Amino acid sequence: MKRFYCRCGQEVFFGNSVCFCCGCTLGYVYRQNAIISVVAEYNLWCDPDRQLRYRFCQNRLKHEACNGLVDASSPQVFCLACQLNRTIPNLSVPGNLERWRKIEQAKRRLIYGLLRLGLPLQYPTRGYVQGLAFDFLEDQRSNPQAEKTFVATGHLNGVITLNVLEADDVARTQQRTLNRERYRTLLGHLRHECGHYYDQLLNQDAAQFTALFGDPQQDYDAALKHYYQHGPRPDWQEHYISAYASAHPYEDWAECFAHYLHVTDTLETAVARGTTDMTDSAEPMAQRIMHWNKLVVVMNELNRSMGLADAYPFSVSDKTLQKLIYIDDAIRRFAGSHQQQQ
Ligand SMILES: [Zn+2]
Ligand SMILES: [Zn+2]
Ligand SMILES: [Zn+2]
Repeated sequence: MKRFYCRCGQEVFFGNSVCFCCGCTLGYVYRQNAIISVVAEYNLWCDPDRQLRYRFCQNRLKHEACNGLVDASSPQVFCLACQLNRTIPNLSVPGNLERWRKIEQAKRRLIYGLLRLGLPLQYPTRGYVQGLAFDFLEDQRSNPQAEKTFVATGHLNGVITLNVLEADDVARTQQRTLNRERYRTLLGHLRHECGHYYDQLLNQDAAQFTALFGDPQQDYDAALKHYYQHGPRPDWQEHYISAYASAHPYEDWAECFAHYLHVTDTLETAVARGTTDMTDSAEPMAQRIMHWNKLVVVMNELNRSMGLADAYPFSVSDKTLQKLIYIDDAIRRFAGSHQQQQ
C-alpha cells in the first residue's frame, strides 16, 4: 500500500479518520485513491485544496465502520466499498459491531488492491446476477437466533459470503488449527473468494489454465470431499502454494490469486517504505518474486523476534511461480485493454 499524508504533513494511515497531529478530519476517496483532509462546511465536508465537497459514508456516520467520503453530488449514501454490501450482521447482537468493523477494514484493503490493479468491481458475465457483492452472515454458533445452523465462507455468482465468526480471533484460530492451516485471516478469505469471482474474466485460455492448474472439469464436490477425508498429496509443496490449493484446480487458482494480491500489496508497502531494493512495480513477475523472497525472510525474522508467527508461512516453488506469472499476464492484459478502451 502507498503512503498517505495529512495536509499538515503528518503521515496518516489507510484506516484513519482523524489526524493525530493536527486533529483535522480525514477521509478516503476511492476515485482519487487518497486520504484527504476535510473541513466542515454547513452539513458537508469540504476539501479546501480542491474546493470539492463530500458527505460521510453512511456506515461511517452511523457505525464508525468506514472512513470513506462520498461526493456531495452523488445519489449514493455509501462509499464505493460499502455499496457492495448486500447483507451486514445483526448489530444488536453483542460483539457483532466489533466483528463487522474488522471485516470492513479487511474488505477496504481488498478493494484498494483490486482497484490498484485495474480490476473492475462489476463486469458483465454469463450467469452473474450482479457485480461483486458481499453477504456477511451469522450462523447459530455465534447467534442462536440465526436462521442457519452453519454458514460456509464461499463465492457464488459474484456474491462473496463470509461467516461473521471469522472476525472472532478465538473461533478463527480454532478453525485454523482444526484445518491444519498455516494462515487464516479475514483478508486472506476475501482475496481467495475474489479469485473465484475473477475466474471468468481472467481465464481466457483454457489450455494454458489446464496445463498449469489441472483439468477444471474434475468433479468439484468429489475432489473437496477427498481432500477433507485424505488431506493433500505428500509432495504438495512442490506443486501448490498451500495444501488447500491441491483440493481442485479452481481452488488452486483462487489460492494463487490470493497470494498474487498478498505479494502485490505487501511489495507496494515495502517499496513505499524503502524496505526492499525493488523500485519498479512493473518489473517482470519472476524478478518481483526474487524481491519478495528476500522480503519474506525479513518479515518472518522480524515476527520471530517479536515472538509472533511467521507473516508469510509459505514458499513459492517454481511451479507456483509459473501460475503467478500467468495471473500477472492475465491481469495486465485485462487492465491494458481496458485502459485503451477508455
Ligand atoms: Zn494533520
Ligand atoms: Zn463506506
Ligand atoms: Zn475457494
